[in-house]
Amino acid sequence: MESCDALIIGGGPAGSTCARALARHGLDVLVLDQKVFPRDKVCAGWITPAVLDTLQIDTGDYAAGRVLQPITGFRTGIIDGAEVETRYRKNVSYGIRRCEFDHYLLKRSGARLRLGEPVRSIERRGDGWIVNGEIATSLLIGAGGHFCPVARFLGAHPSGAESVVAAKEVEFAMDAAQEKDCRVRPDTPELFFCKDLRGYGWCFRKGSYLNIGLGREDRHRLSEHLDAFCEFLTQRGKIPAGIPDRYHGHAYLLYGHGARKLFDAGVVLIGDAAGLAYPESGEGIRPAVESALLAAATLIEAGRDYRIQNLAPYQKRLQQRLGMSGPAETRLPAAWQSFIGGKLLSNAWFTRHVVLDRWFLHARQGALRAA
Ligand SMILES: Cc1cc2nc3c(=O)[nH]c(=O)nc-3n(C[C@H](O)[C@H](O)[C@H](O)COP(=O)(O)OP(=O)(O)OC[C@H]3O[C@@H](n4cnc5c(N)ncnc54)[C@H](O)[C@@H]3O)c2cc1C
Repeated sequence: MESCDALIIGGGPAGSTCARALARHGLDVLVLDQKVFPRDKVCAGWITPAVLDTLQIDTGDYAAGRVLQPITGFRTGIIDGAEVETRYRKNVSYGIRRCEFDHYLLKRSGARLRLGEPVRSIERRGDGWIVNGEIATSLLIGAGGHFCPVARFLGAHPSGAESVVAAKEVEFAMDAAQEKDCRVRPDTPELFFCKDLRGYGWCFRKGSYLNIGLGREDRHRLSEHLDAFCEFLTQRGKIPAGIPDRYHGHAYLLYGHGARKLFDAGVVLIGDAAGLAYPESGEGIRPAVESALLAAATLIEAGRDYRIQNLAPYQKRLQQRLGMSGPAETRLPAAWQSFIGGKLLSNAWFTRHVVLDRWFLHARQGALRAA
C-alpha cells in the first residue's frame, strides 16, 4: 500500500496549484491523473494576467519554447451583427495552449505523480481513505474536473439535472497558406454572442495556432449553433479554408448554477469539480487556481485535523472571493435580452466597461496572493 499526506485526483490547474501549495508547507502530496502529461484539454486557452500573477509565473521563463500570446484588444458583437473593436494600452490577457500550460504547472508542483491511472474506487477507511485499493491517505482532494470521481462520491450527478455550459472547440496549427489567409489577429481575439445571449463563439489565434469554439448554457442544438458561427466567420472572411472537422466537446458548471457539496470530513473539491467557472464568461482557469489556493490555506490551518468543522472556512473563503450566488449582479430579465443583443453589444462604451472589463477581464478584482 502506498501512502501520502494528501492525494489529489486530477493534475489540471486546480490540482497542480493545490499540490504546489501543500508541498511547500511540507506535506507529502501525490497527484493521480488518468491521463499521461502533456495531455490536451478542451479549452480556448485564454487567461488574464491575474492568473499568471497568482501562479507566480515568470513570463520570460514560461514563453521559452511555449506559446504565450499577448492580447491587447478584442473584436466583439452579436453573430451576424455589427462588430466593435476595443483596444488597450497594455496586455490584458494571454493565450496559452493547455497541453503546455498544464504540463508546466504539474511538473513544477513538487508533488509525486501517478499518471495514466484512473480512479477505480474510493473507500472511507477510519479517518482516512483508500483509493484504487492501493493508496492510503488522510486527505483526499477532488480536482478531476466536471466529471470528477470525488465529486460523484460526494453526491454530484454530472450527467443528470445540473445546468451546465456545453462547449465545442478545435485547435490546430495553421500551415503557411492558412496563416496568410487568417484575418483574425493574434493580439485581438474575436468573441461573438449568440442572438439569444445564451452563449458565445470565439476565434482565437495563438501564434500559428487557431482555436475556434462555441459554448452555450443550453446543450440542445449545440452543433447547429457552432455551424452557424463558423459560417459567419467564413462569410466575413475571417478564417482560412481547410479548418479541421475535429471539434471536441466538454461540459462544465458555472458558479451559482449548481449545488455541489464542496467538502466533508477529510475531503474537499476544487476547480471544475466544485463547479466554479465565472458565470458571465465561462472562464474557469482563474477560479480553479484560486479555489486551489483557498482550499490549501484552509487545509494548512487545519493542521492535519481534517474534521468537517476545520474545513468549513474553505466555503466561506470561496464565497468571499466569488460572491454568494454567482451571476445575480449581471443577470438581466429575459425580455431585455434581445434588446441588449441588438443595441448594447454594438455600443463601444458598454462593450469596454461592462462586457470586457467587468464580465471577461474581472479588471477590478486583483490577483489572489498565495498564503
Ligand atoms: C470549450 C471550452 C473552452 C474553455 N475555455 C476557457 C478559457 O479560454 N479560459 C478559461 O479560463 N477557462 C476555459 N474553460 C474552462 C476551463 O477549461 C476549466 O474551468 C479548467 O480546465 C478547470 O480546471 P480543473 O483543474 O478544475 O480541471 P481540468 O483542467 O478539467 O483537469 C481535471 C483533470 O482530472 C483528470 N481526471 C478526470 N477524471 C479522472 C479520473 N476518473 N481519474 C483520474 N484523473 C481524472 C483529467 O484527466 C484532468 O487532467 C473552457 C472550457 C471549455 C469546455
